[in-house]
Amino acid sequence: MQQPDPKEIMILNRIVVFSVIVFFIIIAAIYLLFISGKTGQYSDFEDYIFGTYVRIRISSKINPSTISKAIFAEMKRLEKKFDPYVESSIIYKLNHSEDWVEVDDETLSVIDLALKIARDTEGAFDPALGRLIQLWGFSKFTEREATGTFTVPSASEIAEAASKSGYQKIAIDYVNKKIKTNGAWIDLGGILKGYALKRAYQIAKEFDKSCHGFVETGGQIMILGPKYNKTNWVIGVRDPRGQPGENITIVYLSEGSVATSGDYERFFIVDNVRYHHILDPRTGYPANKAISATVISNDPVIADAFSTAAFVLGEDRWLFTRTVFPKYGAEVLLVTPKKRLLRTDNFKIYEMSDR
Ligand code: ADP
Ligand code: MG
Repeated sequence: MQQPDPKEIMILNRIVVFSVIVFFIIIAAIYLLFISGKTGQYSDFEDYIFGTYVRIRISSKINPSTISKAIFAEMKRLEKKFDPYVESSIIYKLNHSEDWVEVDDETLSVIDLALKIARDTEGAFDPALGRLIQLWGFSKFTEREATGTFTVPSASEIAEAASKSGYQKIAIDYVNKKIKTNGAWIDLGGILKGYALKRAYQIAKEFDKSCHGFVETGGQIMILGPKYNKTNWVIGVRDPRGQPGENITIVYLSEGSVATSGDYERFFIVDNVRYHHILDPRTGYPANKAISATVISNDPVIADAFSTAAFVLGEDRWLFTRTVFPKYGAEVLLVTPKKRLLRTDNFKIYEMSDR
């Protein structure tokens, strides 16, 4: 028999070793693809904004931290621009001027939208309650909470502030781009987080149209895209009388936004009475016909403002909420003071996991 050439054996060995390496690389790549498909490789960003937290969970072909930082910078810009109690802001200027004030396009459109929602909700959502919000101390909530300096204003103080409040007082001159507040103080606290989330979505999609994940700030979530780009996000709606983490229901969403307004977020207790930060414009006192209101909408501005409005309308005016809100793309879950759950017709659909 002819002896094999040692050179040929070496070449053969190299081919075998090479094939084995290639084989393992392919297996590893398939495994990684499988794993990343399962985990989505989200990266998280957390910080503080609007007196609460913001959490951004994002997966993108672009560096996610670049997107998160751009979103956070935009939120900071909005917080500064629209803070009614800081002298440098446009809202402060509007509130403290007796005359028409020229505003930029963004300010005009946000205030215009807030006034429209006020009309659509029969004034339950009112962006001109600044005087009352300041009187109650909710404009400086974090400091007051730290020092424990909450007091209940007197009935006459409330009546006085209420008489100088209300969205009907705000006038817009669309031709000259001017706004006049006529003594009322604008406070966009019930819509600003929604608007910030809308901007967050736009910014994320400008960087990478197919990015996915969500942005969450103080009880409101805006979805950037389905989980792992294919399944619903599972979102707990907090039990307003439970501990954080205890849910009253669960909703499944792959797009849009969900916002909850509750009496448990910002409140103080005097003589066993709970006073919280959502005011009934008709009385000037905290609204007490609901303990939480959750709204699902494709538009985060609608979700935010309509959840505040649904809370104010409460159990007494539920029929109005139930009939009118879905026309504006808002599906509602209301928790009454006795913890009864009231839902608009389509809300249930979001509670079904196997849609
Ligand atoms: P949160 O900010 O806790 O998510 P909301 O979205 O309901 O709650 O907004 C509450 C904020 O909106 C208050 O802190 C206040 O600035 C403002 N606000 C209070 N009452 C009303 C109201 N009836 N309509 C519009 N804004 C309100
Ligand atoms: Mg709201």
